[in-house]
Amino acid sequence: MTQQTTFSLEPNPNALDAATRDALMRDPAFGRVFTDHMVTITWREGQGWQDAKVTARKPFSIDPACSVLHYGQEIFEGMKAYRGADGAVTLFRPLENARRFQASAKRMAMPALPESLFLEAIEQLVRIDQAWVPHGSGSLYLRPFMFANEVFLGIKPASEFIFCVIACPVGPYFKGGDKAVSVWVSENYTRAAPGGTGEAKCGGNYAGSLVAQNEATANGCDQVVFLDAAEHRWVEELGGMNIFFVMDDGTLVTPPLSGSILPGITRASVIELAREMGMVVEERRYSYPEWEADAKSGRLAEAFVCGTAATLVAIGEVRSARTRFAIGNGTAGNTVKVLRDRLVEIQRNQAAGPAGWVHHVAL
Ligand SMILES: *Cc1c(COP(=O)(O)O)cnc(C)c1O
Repeated sequence: MTQQTTFSLEPNPNALDAATRDALMRDPAFGRVFTDHMVTITWREGQGWQDAKVTARKPFSIDPACSVLHYGQEIFEGMKAYRGADGAVTLFRPLENARRFQASAKRMAMPALPESLFLEAIEQLVRIDQAWVPHGSGSLYLRPFMFANEVFLGIKPASEFIFCVIACPVGPYFKGGDKAVSVWVSENYTRAAPGGTGEAKCGGNYAGSLVAQNEATANGCDQVVFLDAAEHRWVEELGGMNIFFVMDDGTLVTPPLSGSILPGITRASVIELAREMGMVVEERRYSYPEWEADAKSGRLAEAFVCGTAATLVAIGEVRSARTRFAIGNGTAGNTVKVLRDRLVEIQRNQAAGPAGWVHHVAL
């Protein structure tokens, strides 16, 4: 049933004309401009995945007792489609997203969407909305997600789920492009605890991080860094990005996947590319006091954050309620630039990377 699912196609009769679309794509910011279509697939207990559809992008009609509105059984993914100089459209390591989506589903007691169906849904949407994949330095951000859709206030995994993919053309994530960001180290809030949902890509993790992000913003910082929940000592990650440190001998350090850190595909790709380029990469615990001491002594040369939306962005300044220090001279260093350029070239299919990283979409 699942492997042979066919998608019904109902093209949007009110799809935007080319001139309107191009005007919207000129400066799309992040996550505000959406394409004409969406994909939905429904899962029902005892029946499995069914009703795969490509339709006009439109609101859902859900009951006020819909379980996701009360208990937050929801997961998502984030990935990008890129336009090559030859017009071809590619995805970057999409099966990694499909696998992580399955892992997130398992943690949240949701049904596993087969990898092939995940990929087919993404390709269907990219194909029908291919005119929305920007030329030049932008990309089409794809947002697959799944939520519980049972009308029931009892506490249990839902008997029905909706999987959906929407897409938006995007430019750079941080305004200011290559600028280094400032980060706020939260000493009041943690993001994830051992045994919790930190390694699942679920909306609830983000809901819990917003108050800390507000604290960062109120203190003049761009992003918040979370420490571990048990000791409030070990650097874990940001609300939606992983973190790397570059030592003065060129060694890269990143916190190990401990169960409370989201296993970023950008993180995994950076580790692999850095090793391929001859760098030493250590996945080890790194404490906030160590970070401060290393930055002040000059042992720490650079630090950067990474994720699909932002790629790699340098950290220029670190602050907390008690401390404040700069990293290097406060601007993007050489290592982050070299790694970002290498990754972005591969993602955009401008340079060959490890086998299987670039997936062509048949248009
Ligand atoms: C999505 C996400 C990341 C980055 O993952 P990528 O696969 O690199 O985009 C990092 N941390 C959190 C909490 C995330 O949700």
